[in-house]
Amino acid sequence: MYNSVIFRNFARYLWCNMKELIEKAKHIVIFTHVAPDGDAMGSSLALWHWIKGLPVTGEGLRDVTVIVPNSFPAFLNWMPGAEQILIYEKQAAQCDPLIAKAELFICTDFNDPKRIGPMGEKMLANPCPKILIDHHLNPMDFADEVHSHPEASSSCEIVYKELRNEGVNELTTEIATCIYTGLMTDTGNFSYNSSAPEIYEIIANLIRAGVHKDEIYNAVFNQYSTDRMRLTGYALYRKMRIFPEYHLALITLSADELDQYHYQPGDCEGLVNMPLQIADVHYSVFMREERAKPGTPKSRIRISFRSQGDRPVNIWANEVFHGGGHANASGGELFGSLNYAVKLFEESYKKYIKK
Ligand code: 5GP
Ligand code: MN
Repeated sequence: MYNSVIFRNFARYLWCNMKELIEKAKHIVIFTHVAPDGDAMGSSLALWHWIKGLPVTGEGLRDVTVIVPNSFPAFLNWMPGAEQILIYEKQAAQCDPLIAKAELFICTDFNDPKRIGPMGEKMLANPCPKILIDHHLNPMDFADEVHSHPEASSSCEIVYKELRNEGVNELTTEIATCIYTGLMTDTGNFSYNSSAPEIYEIIANLIRAGVHKDEIYNAVFNQYSTDRMRLTGYALYRKMRIFPEYHLALITLSADELDQYHYQPGDCEGLVNMPLQIADVHYSVFMREERAKPGTPKSRIRISFRSQGDRPVNIWANEVFHGGGHANASGGELFGSLNYAVKLFEESYKKYIKK
């Protein structure tokens, strides 16, 4: 399926390019995935800045909007352009007409329309061209121009290369800052998926374009609230279970526990990586309960999987928790109790991980 998508779109790619599609469109919507992270924000905003700066040919103006399914974490508020992003969960009435009249969609950092929630169906209902820019395996066959590079560190790396392909030689500081942020966050500040020498060539160019890398690090990683820091401490001290034979850690946090620490979106970002700092832990799973929405009976459990080296977790995430992702970083979800999610975990981990 993956090969056929690439092949079909490779054929289209021969006579299509991103700039041509953009030049033809007067109304453009850029989408990125639910629970936007630094790469989602960086890739969508970098494109937004670039498109805004392109001259408009013919009559009228071009409008371009970034729409995300739900709120992004406060530690990404500072990103240039973040203030114009529309959040579908809160601003559906403003977003729906934009989606309906769009003449081009650009999808960044996701491989399946389901990853933009209810907007997925609405996007598919509009037959206008769709461009996909992404680094997740096995993209669904929904876009007309596909820039799918699972070997890339981040979608931001792909955006950088695509801009180069489009003849952009000088990046604005805004675009460079957005791209750097995604490179930095999707590689854990260059501690995984970041061994390709060209990443550092890209970084050198981003710094030449005016990126203040230490300030970006500080703005993203050193912004804990006191509550968030205490929640992290509580999770590690009280809630982490270790399965030594399987080099596995599990952390769970219920909605009640999160309430005690006044949980805000993004407060658990990175928590799943922490048990991997233990010498003998190579797999880590984190489960977070979201209370049932009014009118729905079941709470939602978000599950994150991380691993090191040749220990894929995406099949486990997919087959047991309806998700997927990268070999070493995957996610999934289920609707039910946290106890039920833990039971599924306990029944399945021996099958999916190496002892
Ligand atoms: P996180 O644990 O940060 O939520 O997600 C890690 C990675 O797993 C994401 O970058 C994304 O690629 C993938 N992922 C997370 N949740 C889902 C999901 O529900 N479905 C799929 N297909 N991938 C997911
Ligand atoms: Mn990404």
